[in-house]
Amino acid sequence: MPAETITLDQLGWDTDFSAAFDALDDQTLIPARVEIEHNYLYRVLTDREELIAQTAGRLRHHANTKEELPAVGDWVALAVTEQEQHATIKSILPRRSYFARKATGNPSIKQVVAANVDVVFIVSGLDGDFNLRRIGRYLVATAESGAQPIVVLNKSDLHKDVSSCVAKVRAIAPEVQIHATCCRTGTGIDVLAAFLRPGKTVALLGSSGVGKSTLINRLLGEARQRTQPVRASDSRGRHTTIHRELIVRPAGGIIIDTPGMRELSIWDTDRAVEDVFSEVDTLSADCHFRDCGHQQEPGCAVRAAVDNGRLPVDQLA
Ligand code: GDP
Ligand code: ZN
Repeated sequence: MPAETITLDQLGWDTDFSAAFDALDDQTLIPARVEIEHNYLYRVLTDREELIAQTAGRLRHHANTKEELPAVGDWVALAVTEQEQHATIKSILPRRSYFARKATGNPSIKQVVAANVDVVFIVSGLDGDFNLRRIGRYLVATAESGAQPIVVLNKSDLHKDVSSCVAKVRAIAPEVQIHATCCRTGTGIDVLAAFLRPGKTVALLGSSGVGKSTLINRLLGEARQRTQPVRASDSRGRHTTIHRELIVRPAGGIIIDTPGMRELSIWDTDRAVEDVFSEVDTLSADCHFRDCGHQQEPGCAVRAAVDNGRLPVDQLA
């Protein structure tokens, strides 16, 4: 989609971001959304164009963690010079949700891999990849991020009893929507596409090979850059391949697909499990019996958390 036809609303701008931006009270700044990051250089989208931006020195030097640096999906306040050659990211607007992982090389530092995600498709393949524990971990990670989880059971053509798989997921996550899809036939794709309303941002979580790229292609209704490079002309008329990690879907909605989000599928596992253990620890303090086994004991706070959907049953086991 040519940048000039995109409105801020189509990019996900809303009254909350607008209020945060207005609070900066600086007429020289314009809002933009981060599309891709590479070595502290950012490609951002404004309602007029695509620009390369750097972080203001102040922002970079005062960032205590990588968490405080811009990430794909972030809304930022941009200073653009007359010639619009140099854009500078002056500040990051407060994130509505975000996914973070340990930074490569320094596990004590968190790095944001996707920001301002509204809906997450937690994708499993029904070809043997189906694993309730893993789905439970993704549900925990998504709950932590602040985004809404949707469980997607893809490759429904490869399983004889899809409804039993749906029932198993429902048992650990009664409040979460579960949809079976098949990228071969297109079954269920329209249901997922309905989440891509204008301005809504969707990201995907799931092991390698479950069909995330294929699903994205299906949802875009066109071949995607990574699988089939789209040719675009730069200012000199040369053809270049543009790789995007934030894709504005022509039919509405935004899809975020970053390498960091894909890697999250690998490492976030351990963190999520630790978090569940610490959550059980915290909840236990409220159990009626000090030596509560969290089975059938009366006044058990852990079972109560399971019953109201706060803690996945599978994780408790
Ligand atoms: P990713 O690693 O999660 O991005 O997975 P890909 O999108 O690369 O898909 C991995 C493989 O699964 C590819 O060969 C796809 O053609 C195949 N695949 C994706 N969706 C389906 C499906 O619904 N049914 C079947 N049978 N194969 C699928
Ligand atoms: Zn208990």
